[in-house]
Amino acid sequence: MNAGQQQSRFDQSDDLVVMKFGGTSVEDATAIRRLIGIVQSRSGLQRVLVVSALARVTDQLLEAGHAAANGHLGLALATVRNIYVRHEQLADALFEGSASTALDQQLRQHLRELESLLHDVEASRCFDLKVQDRLLGFGECFSSQLVTETLRHAGLDAVHVDARVCIVTDDRHGQASPKWDATNQRVQDHLGLLLDSGALPVMGGFIAATEDGVPTTLGRGGSDFSAAIAGAALGASRVEIWTDVDGVMTADPKFCPDARVIQKMSFEEATELAHFGAKVLHPATLVPAVRENIPVYVLNSRSPQRRGTEIVANTNSGRRVNAVTTKRNVAAVEIELSRAIDSELLGKVFSAFDQHSCLGDVMGTSLARISLLVPSTGALPAIAADLQGIADVRWENHKALVCLLGENIRRQPEIAGRAFSAISDMDVRVMCQGASDRTISFLVEDSKAQEAVQRLHGLFFPKKEPAHDWGGISTAFCQAG
Ligand code: ADP
Ligand code: ASP
Ligand code: MG
Repeated sequence: MNAGQQQSRFDQSDDLVVMKFGGTSVEDATAIRRLIGIVQSRSGLQRVLVVSALARVTDQLLEAGHAAANGHLGLALATVRNIYVRHEQLADALFEGSASTALDQQLRQHLRELESLLHDVEASRCFDLKVQDRLLGFGECFSSQLVTETLRHAGLDAVHVDARVCIVTDDRHGQASPKWDATNQRVQDHLGLLLDSGALPVMGGFIAATEDGVPTTLGRGGSDFSAAIAGAALGASRVEIWTDVDGVMTADPKFCPDARVIQKMSFEEATELAHFGAKVLHPATLVPAVRENIPVYVLNSRSPQRRGTEIVANTNSGRRVNAVTTKRNVAAVEIELSRAIDSELLGKVFSAFDQHSCLGDVMGTSLARISLLVPSTGALPAIAADLQGIADVRWENHKALVCLLGENIRRQPEIAGRAFSAISDMDVRVMCQGASDRTISFLVEDSKAQEAVQRLHGLFFPKKEPAHDWGGISTAFCQAG
């Protein structure tokens, strides 16, 4: 596409919406029919669709990979065949007898490639992150082609686009980061051209590739990020994240049935919430949205008429506590350095963690000590061995970080005090202040995470009390879920 063509499309960009549908929003024929209805309801707009793998498929692919690597090839092959059959059966249900040979061929081709990959994994016993990225990407390949074909059957001019051609990343397998210039150019070239021709591009979320075409992924839950990347590159007027809850809520509704929808929040608030464990958004989602100032909406595909959550720049909610989140299954790591911290030592420590793809949060430092919080991983003994002579590394697994989020929360010690008292019987081992003013965090045993969230949510968002009586907490932007 030449510069003139890009300009012409950007002139119309007010009308462009990127719509991302998560796993449960494509999990069965009913969900996919709902998706078609939602897409049709945006008929006045230019639309780009980003779809996740069908619910549970990514986990099943992961299991198949591990099974093959452990020599259980039969189990691995049966798992991927079931995934293939699930998609074929869905196609049958959706197309009601009018079979699509093209789709059939694509799905069979994916199955063959998957089988061959699993044979290689079994033979080599190698299932590293690079192979894992190749394997997991098939979930989105299957689903995006199924959804494209279903939209075409519904009369829409949907065209499948391979995300691995559009989204260019570094080679940090398992959690790759976009190379922005190349990605923006490719997205504009591939998706922009289709939009100009009036088509509706559909691409798989989560998957990408390096400049050399080696498949990568953006990390678990990464389809949200894919949608925002596409939205930013195309100058979209909004990005819609369609999921299985009514929006971003004051807590995970699976833990707290009383959780309320947060109707409006700032990019910063939402970023913090995602970073501290709210699975509803991939933590990097807001990065491109902030850069291009694109509003992001989180909406329920099961109840599309609900207003959901609007995430925008510079909104001041005036709330003292926005939400309670938890990051499960983390390890608290204490690193006792052999000498006082300096940049060389820090570099060595972080590169040891980096080499094992173990990224986390720094919780504190002192003269010769660093406290980190990392996802529980089997790599910690190897990291400790790599750092021998430089640092003594100790860790405790099975922890959970429970966070209170709110504007300027750190400047209100009475909130920390009330929260701490509510869970003080729980062996709260560490109380950490976030690097920003928006979080206060507590470390508890992972087995206590749910109860801690419930107690804190109950404290700051009590049930059935009139809004003005909620412990002094403004509820101006909360509604019943
Ligand atoms: P999708 O497959 O659509 O990407 P996810 O499972 O990744 O959906 O994210 C949606 C889930 O996030 C919800 O079902 C909910 O259990 C969980 N969740 C965790 N914290 C929150 C929160 N604060 N608000 C809303 N949902 C949350
Ligand atoms: N399918 C991927 C996952 O389960 C990506 C996503 O759903 O966003 O992590
Ligand atoms: Mg998700």
